Amino acid sequence: MSSNREFDNPYPDFAPGREVFKPGTSELKDDIVKQLQENIVKLLKKLEDGLKGEVDWHDYSVYTGTTGIAFLYLHLMNSVHDTGQSKDYMKKAIWFIEKPLASLKGRRLSFMCGDLGPLALGAVLYKRVGMDRESKDLIKRVEKLHKDVIPLDNDLPDEFLFGRVGYLFSLLFIKKHLGEDAIDTAIVKKVVASVVKSGRHLAQKENRNSILMYMWHEKHYLGAAHGLSGILYMLLQAQEYLSAGDLKDLIKPSVDYIMALKFDSGNFPSSLSNSTDRLVHWCHGAPGVIHLAAVAYKVFGDEKYLQAARECGEVIWKRGLLQKGYGICHGVSGNAYAFLLLFQLTHEEKYAYRAVKFAEWCYDYGKHGCRTPDRPLSLFEGLAGTVYFLNDLLHPEQAAFPAFQLF
Ligand SMILES: [Zn+2]
Repeated sequence: MSSNREFDNPYPDFAPGREVFKPGTSELKDDIVKQLQENIVKLLKKLEDGLKGEVDWHDYSVYTGTTGIAFLYLHLMNSVHDTGQSKDYMKKAIWFIEKPLASLKGRRLSFMCGDLGPLALGAVLYKRVGMDRESKDLIKRVEKLHKDVIPLDNDLPDEFLFGRVGYLFSLLFIKKHLGEDAIDTAIVKKVVASVVKSGRHLAQKENRNSILMYMWHEKHYLGAAHGLSGILYMLLQAQEYLSAGDLKDLIKPSVDYIMALKFDSGNFPSSLSNSTDRLVHWCHGAPGVIHLAAVAYKVFGDEKYLQAARECGEVIWKRGLLQKGYGICHGVSGNAYAFLLLFQLTHEEKYAYRAVKFAEWCYDYGKHGCRTPDRPLSLFEGLAGTVYFLNDLLHPEQAAFPAFQLF
């Protein structure tokens, strides 16, 4: 063990003779696919056995609750060809979302931890089963909530898990699945403008070097879940609702501000007040910031962002087998998405190989002596997220970090 945070990576790095693809293709070799499929079946059974016990319907979040389970079933449904199997997954997805939709608490406005998760996912699922009227009703409820999101004089943060860009994600998610016209574009523009205004306001007030700055719980976080990189990532996924001037003069310099904070290891600090190179999680550190580097490379075409993404990949390969477990938020599955992203950007087999090795680590789920998460079956902390990742790895070109990466 190299520290009390991660295990030493026991795998040799990619080299000739360790290919994972069939020659000349980006299709995984048959034996790797077979092993993946066997482990998906095994871990999905473990998950479903767990869910037969008591389900906590009070937690209906995507992050740790029932909507996250529904989210997994939508993903599984999209990847099977057998119509009977697909119908079964759809039934299960709807089962996990109907009860929450009937008893929303009206408290939080984000996709990940608030009412917007069940509302947005429900709209997509209902449309799929032909319940058009119900789907439209949910979309109306989503749109109506923009009035609570846009004002800057409330205590709503801007970050992804609980804040404004978590609402923005809900709008983009519906547009992606149900078409451009499914959401009023004027609302998306207003939310984007509000997030930008909020960031400019704080940066000016505090006289920061960055043009945009945000806070959550009194800290200037930098990671994907609560910080600047997650906010900029979501704004760049909504780039068509920003002007060319704002992209160039506000967003790009803010991305550069974060990139300049990189440690020599390739990792990133979790907040401005924390300068120790410790956490290598999606929520805090390189596995989250890599998503920003990747989208910045796609939007601005500047090689320096690809280089930053590659450096994130190196530290994740070295320190990404976390003692915290196998999950998406702060676990091995979430970290493995960094390699899938790098594979998609570069088409270098090395990165697909690394993702496969992290998957192999997950095959021994629960056998490394990791701490059991508070919500051991959930999408972001537990087993559902690992099943999601393994299933995504079957198609490395199309894989996308759940409930965060849209394109
Ligand atoms: Zn986390």
